[in-house]
Amino acid sequence: MQLEKDKYELTPEEIRENLREVHANVAAACERVHRNPAEVTLCAVSKLKSVNDIEVAMAAGQHLFGENYVQEITAKYAELGDRAEWHMIGHLQRNKVKYIIDKVTLIHSVDSLELAAEIEKQAAKHDKVMDILLEVNIAGEESKWGFTAEETLPMAEKIGALPHVHVRGLMTSAPYTEDAETNRIHFRNLKTLQDHLKVAGYPGVDADILSMGMTADYTVAVEEGATMIRVGTGIFGKRDYDK
Ligand SMILES: *Cc1c(COP(=O)(O)O)cnc(C)c1O
Repeated sequence: MQLEKDKYELTPEEIRENLREVHANVAAACERVHRNPAEVTLCAVSKLKSVNDIEVAMAAGQHLFGENYVQEITAKYAELGDRAEWHMIGHLQRNKVKYIIDKVTLIHSVDSLELAAEIEKQAAKHDKVMDILLEVNIAGEESKWGFTAEETLPMAEKIGALPHVHVRGLMTSAPYTEDAETNRIHFRNLKTLQDHLKVAGYPGVDADILSMGMTADYTVAVEEGATMIRVGTGIFGKRDYDK
């Protein structure tokens, strides 16, 4: 898979300016709620964007990139390797775990026990412990992947018991919205679930990462306790889904 220049590709200066703006917005959001901006990690979502765009962001100090498609991770990893850090943030099919297990440092989108069991199997083969997040469908949307809020704690206990899987926290993709404020309640609910998970203290579970907030709503997510935000369009511009 070769990702060439696309019709929405931004100039290097635009990408650099966008990164500065995201960091400034995160800092301002942190200040509003008295958080330390160092608690918030920016995962730059580079799906459907070129290696060239990623290199521009890397030169501007961005180290962590989130990808949705296994094929794209393997192609980009072949070019950039561990010079960048890669997270899998998209829906992952069990039969594709083996292609990314040695390339990504965190899988955000674990949404079934079967997927976790496959990650266990592949991680064991590589003699590593894979960090994962449980994806939670916190707004209860019909069409979304993820565990319900009620399933999340029992699942965390089961998945945490897998010796080569380390549950680091929770992730959600809040509903698409034009008004970020409407997602505040969902972010708050996920944060509460995260707090309950911490208190539960299950073996193999450290609920230190809360992955929530995208371009449209990351400042609200930060105000509500996100420790990792996933921003794509706000850094690299629109994606070309027709290529
Ligand atoms: C594409 C994607 C993002 C980034 O979305 P933007 O609106 O472009 O910031 C974040 N998280 C997930 C799971 C995604 O698939």
